[in-house]
Amino acid sequence: MTDLGIAFKDVFGRAPEGCWAAPGRVNLIGEHTDYNDGHVLPFALPQTTRAAVARRDDGLLRVHSADMDGGVVELRVDDLAPGTGAGWATYPAAVLWTLREAGQPVGGADIHYDSTVPVGGGLSSSAALQVVTALALGELHGVRTGRQELALLCQRSENVYVGAPVGVMDQTASACCTEGHALHLDVRGLEQRQVPLDLAGNGLTLLVADTRVKHAHADGAYASLRAGCEAAASALGLPSLRDVSHDGLAAALDALPDERLRRLTRHVVTENRRVEDVIALLDAGRIRDIGPVLTAGHLSLRDDFQVSCPELDLVVDTALDRGALGARMTGGGFGGSAIALVPVESVPAVTEAVQAALPAARIFAATPSRGAHRLP
Ligand code: ADP
Ligand code: MG
Repeated sequence: MTDLGIAFKDVFGRAPEGCWAAPGRVNLIGEHTDYNDGHVLPFALPQTTRAAVARRDDGLLRVHSADMDGGVVELRVDDLAPGTGAGWATYPAAVLWTLREAGQPVGGADIHYDSTVPVGGGLSSSAALQVVTALALGELHGVRTGRQELALLCQRSENVYVGAPVGVMDQTASACCTEGHALHLDVRGLEQRQVPLDLAGNGLTLLVADTRVKHAHADGAYASLRAGCEAAASALGLPSLRDVSHDGLAAALDALPDERLRRLTRHVVTENRRVEDVIALLDAGRIRDIGPVLTAGHLSLRDDFQVSCPELDLVVDTALDRGALGARMTGGGFGGSAIALVPVESVPAVTEAVQAALPAARIFAATPSRGAHRLP
């Protein structure tokens, strides 16, 4: 038995039926565009959340996490309902409830989790937890859904059950990414393309710095930004900000009633363009040239969308100062993580400088890794 299987047995007193893993993600470019029907380009981290699972036939869901205090959380499957919070266990409960809502024949289970994804670091430990749960329960119960459908189901569980109005990028990245690639997702049609991202072959490292900061207003701010984007689209008479073309930006800005809506719109429209620019550069083999586009994305998030924070700005500025080709915050903002595209020879200098500037930061190199999978 694997270490995870043994840990499951220690908690639940029997062997698991199987083990699964789902990764966290970083978003290379395309921030706050997913809920605007736009473009994103995340890749999966090597860090994963793992789940050892065995079914139960008595209508109980029992979950345990090596990363959380409080022992086993026990819930009755029939009692699950949106808004009934159970701490961290709300995430797996939400996934199970949503699978059943979708008519899938999924019942109770014992689940033990562990994770190498930093929790609360903006690297989507929450999506990894959702996706590994959905994949494991789905496979054990013979559910036949594609990976994108699985991600949509996880998003729905967070929107409806957890009550957070998130887009679908994080879950899609965790479910659908492949090794050596970033995933271009066009959220409007949910079209996907795996875009080769060979960092090492080009003498590059992508450093991630988890600031270990999460500013308290992050969740409320996210909802308000989303509402602002919807208000801007509606003021323009459009289904979403995705429908403002880059060429049409100036006219759209002229037509908007206030400065905040103009700032939000300018970010979303230019950010969608940056995703397309980065993809074109990657396809042309000009990977080093994506650096300035990443940095431009950070400035837009900082100045127009206004979701950065002093710690993220400090990481970005320090990395650029020490030789990074580009750097930006990644994820929703107000803390979390920043990424820096760094020539391998500059990695020690950048790492040291960022660590000195922000001693609490956790810094590591990210390689584009595989999405969720069953473990042997
Ligand atoms: P992140 O940026 O890591 O996704 P979130 O605040 O969105 O941050 O999600 C973190 C939450 O997800 C935790 O507070 C916890 O409720 C849940 N979570 C994530 N990973 C685990 C884990 N390994 N075990 C238990 N709960 C987890
Ligand atoms: Mg999250």
